[in-house]
Amino acid sequence: MTVLVTGGAGYIGSHTVLELASVGTDVVIADDLSRSDARVLETMAKIAGRPVEFARIDVTDERALSALFASHRFEAVVHFAARKSVAESHDEPLAYYRTNLGALFSLLACMRRHDVSSLVFSSSAAVYGDVDGLTTSPYARTKRMGEDVLADVVRASGLRAVALRYFNPCGAHESAQLGELPDRGTTNLMPAVARAAVEGGPLRVFGTDYETPDGTAMRDYVHVVDVARAHLAALARVRASASSTFETFDLGTGISRTVLDVIRAFEARIGRPIAHSLEPRRAGDVPRLVANGERARLLLGWGASLDLDAMVDSSLRWHEHWRDHWR
Ligand code: NAD
Repeated sequence: MTVLVTGGAGYIGSHTVLELASVGTDVVIADDLSRSDARVLETMAKIAGRPVEFARIDVTDERALSALFASHRFEAVVHFAARKSVAESHDEPLAYYRTNLGALFSLLACMRRHDVSSLVFSSSAAVYGDVDGLTTSPYARTKRMGEDVLADVVRASGLRAVALRYFNPCGAHESAQLGELPDRGTTNLMPAVARAAVEGGPLRVFGTDYETPDGTAMRDYVHVVDVARAHLAALARVRASASSTFETFDLGTGISRTVLDVIRAFEARIGRPIAHSLEPRRAGDVPRLVANGERARLLLGWGASLDLDAMVDSSLRWHEHWRDHWR
């Protein structure tokens, strides 16, 4: 089986490509490297023990993507390519709609033209929105609209699609040679705490007056390797489906942690306190998010297996590696 992985040079994509390679699946990555680095591809080849086929293309470019489909026989697609910063999406909404929806449109057109009907789509817990269910950023709306587009296309065609709603992916590859690049504008908590733990410097905690045990916001952190493995289960599910289908699944551990819980876990691992400032809430942040993992457990046979200590440990080791070898 050959699987096209768009955005496969990115954080979650690269871990998923390695999981696919480890079970002998052939992969072709389509990525424009706008948010990644050629060194990610070299590292993946080193870990996988063989090169991974790579096409440097902008997935919104339907003509270039169609040429890639024409030169391969893809059985399925995993679609990660997108821009993912909530803050940036407020500043550049058009770029977010153009990339995140444009890439999906061009991909669906190519899949239809080249008769490829199995798709796993990167969605997000952001689709759940705020306490009233309203999406709070252009980024979140691109994901919700992406799901709506898929549901409509499934109704009108033979497409079989799964949308995986990631909660808070974090951690890094066990080799510590691959992880979330800290210098590509990530605003995620774990890379920020890892940086503060390894290098010192400012760490800002936004919001201390939420109705949570310690007043800071709660999130469901899930190890990126667990997230990657869920894609293999999702691929198996869409490929086994006899007819067109669209399903969504939450990917999380089912455990929600406060920001201070996470900082304390890093402090316990390094054996010293990590300085941080307490600041007002950020607009659009919700108090608490937790995944409902029941459907993924029942229908995908997937559950998270790596705990917070594994997330913290791999984040720290990856940040040290990145500081020493990549920066
Ligand atoms: P990432 O930025 O590390 O990876 C995205 C990859 O897509 C990058 O390698 C980038 O170069 C590539 N890309 C972007 N635009 C492209 C385009 N037009 N054509 C080709 N390649 C393009 O992000 P990630 O954390 O790996 O996220 C992957 C997916 O998961 C995204 O769709 C994101 O929205 C979604 N997601 C991520 C998180 C998270 O916290 N990391 C949470 C929920 C959902």
